[in-house]
Amino acid sequence: MPLKRIALVALLLLGLSATQAQVRHEINFPDLPGYRTLKCDLHMHTVFSDGYVWPTVRVDEAWREGLDVIAITDHIEYQPYKNDIPTKHGRANEIAAGRARERDLLSVLGAEITRATPPGHYNAIFLSDVNPLDTEDFYEVVRQAAEQDAFVFWNHPGWKGPELGRWGEYQETLFERGQLHGIEICNGESYYAEAHQEALKRNLTLIGNSDIHDPALDHARTPANHRTVTLVFAKEKTLAALREALFARRTAVWSQNRLFGRQEHLAAMFQACVEVQPPHHRSGDKLWLAIKNHCELDIELQAIGDTKPATINLPAHSTSLLRLDASVLGKREGLPYRALNFLVGPDEALPVTLEIPSP
Ligand SMILES: [Zn+2]
Ligand SMILES: [Zn+2]
Repeated sequence: MPLKRIALVALLLLGLSATQAQVRHEINFPDLPGYRTLKCDLHMHTVFSDGYVWPTVRVDEAWREGLDVIAITDHIEYQPYKNDIPTKHGRANEIAAGRARERDLLSVLGAEITRATPPGHYNAIFLSDVNPLDTEDFYEVVRQAAEQDAFVFWNHPGWKGPELGRWGEYQETLFERGQLHGIEICNGESYYAEAHQEALKRNLTLIGNSDIHDPALDHARTPANHRTVTLVFAKEKTLAALREALFARRTAVWSQNRLFGRQEHLAAMFQACVEVQPPHHRSGDKLWLAIKNHCELDIELQAIGDTKPATINLPAHSTSLLRLDASVLGKREGLPYRALNFLVGPDEALPVTLEIPSP
């Protein structure tokens, strides 16, 4: 075989194996009744602002890590590599789009509005054109986003410290104008309890993202160490349904070993994640049963009142064996617990009941 042809065949083989070698690790949070659970990262950077990867790499990473939706949100005003890669707002998304389609990922056009704190940083997603947002006046930028019917959220509120991260005049003004729709209560490993409180008080959408700048090295995949994502409960996997769900505040945030959300969504998620099996063995006044945990959290339960056992831990993707007093079978109302890492407010754990099916 001529050398050139061998090289060509080798290249083709390499290309083939590169595609086939891609493995996706699903993020397991079940769908809720009537809704699909979309795993979304709506805040990430590429070399088009201050990130360290090319846009298509973000797509591959997201697919491998089990995401359904990404928004590349490069800074509009901050581009340290401008001399190498000239300002081209929205170009990263354009480059990523084809690859996202190949991997069945939804990719949303977004940008990060970047100001000193306060007012701080905001993401606008579902834009049609980033260019009109490249303007001096902060309120004018957000007005431009609103004109495009964008979904706007306040990023990493407390990153410059709690004092500067407080809800203030800027947020209030945007909120009153109907131009602020969500708050990033988790950004990477940071959690902003005060912002969480504000989001609940003003009925804003709860958001959590990676804000990734470095390459994702694909080794962070434990319940405590993984990409921070927003779970969006959408009627279907389309951009229109995603948008509807975000404006309707049907989200939860998965960060470290915690899930933050509103009571109705977390209660439904707990229900979908935890499956109590009928007791399989009884001896005297004791009985044995298994509980399955179908989700990514190591679920920690703490008894309400004098329920026994006082604590139950259900490791992610596992079946746990439980020994209970046989008297629980008579309790029709179930066993009351608090799910310590299902947080419906800062330090406010979701109340749940474990219903024991008859053997
Ligand atoms: Zn930022
Ligand atoms: Zn950012």
